Amino acid sequence: MDRYIRNIYKGVYTVLVGMRITIRQFFEPNVTHQYPYEHDFEKKRNVREIPKGYRGQLYNRIEDCIGCKKCELICPVDCITITGDKLPKGEQLWDSMNVIHLKDGREIIGLIEGEDKKLNLDEEMTVTNITSRQGPQEVVDRLEQSGDESRTQTISGSEVSRVVTRNPVVFYLDQFDIDMSLCMYCGLCTEVCPTECLTMIDTLEGIEYSKFDRTDLIFNFDKQEMYGKDEAETEEAAD
Ligand code: SF4
Ligand code: SF4
Repeated sequence: MDRYIRNIYKGVYTVLVGMRITIRQFFEPNVTHQYPYEHDFEKKRNVREIPKGYRGQLYNRIEDCIGCKKCELICPVDCITITGDKLPKGEQLWDSMNVIHLKDGREIIGLIEGEDKKLNLDEEMTVTNITSRQGPQEVVDRLEQSGDESRTQTISGSEVSRVVTRNPVVFYLDQFDIDMSLCMYCGLCTEVCPTECLTMIDTLEGIEYSKFDRTDLIFNFDKQEMYGKDEAETEEAAD
């Protein structure tokens, strides 16, 4: 009889121990999310930090793309489609610019003043015409606030890791599509890009871009208006 009662006691006791954890969790906030309807939970809670250099969604800074098609050729799964025309000899869309890569991973695009554009760690470099198309955002914001028309910044050589000179653009791009539903994130296309305009986004935006329709995963980077063409002109050319 004693044993019978002891068994009942043990059974009730172990159930209560198990239920203690269940009841405690019952009052904890939810950890599940109605994905993909809820997209922003990680941003709100700052759950994760994405490691620098993570291979996320591809992004083409199209204003720097020279239409060389190296990325399209090297892609093992043919998910990049580029069509474009070479401009007549002697014509170019814009002049060469310098991409200054800072040691903290940010980059500034502008024109380094002076003839010698080699990196000298002991000297400061003056960068003019900094483009607002590319961060670092705080530099751009500061320039906007100061109303400085020349868009100039002085950067210490010790802050800089390398300087890339991008060439004048001589190609007109009609189409630059990347089908991210096919991409296998190998990164080969970014490695061969001579102007470093093709990059993989290593923030949450580069990881979380789910869509309901697969065709929405074809990202389109041609920007006709960037070339000074309006829509009517573009449609006319298509006809
Ligand atoms: S990262 Fe994607 S688009 Fe680039 S080469 Fe690899 S598969 Fe192609
Ligand atoms: S390799 Fe770079 S510059 Fe050449 S077409 Fe591709 S994105 Fe443009």
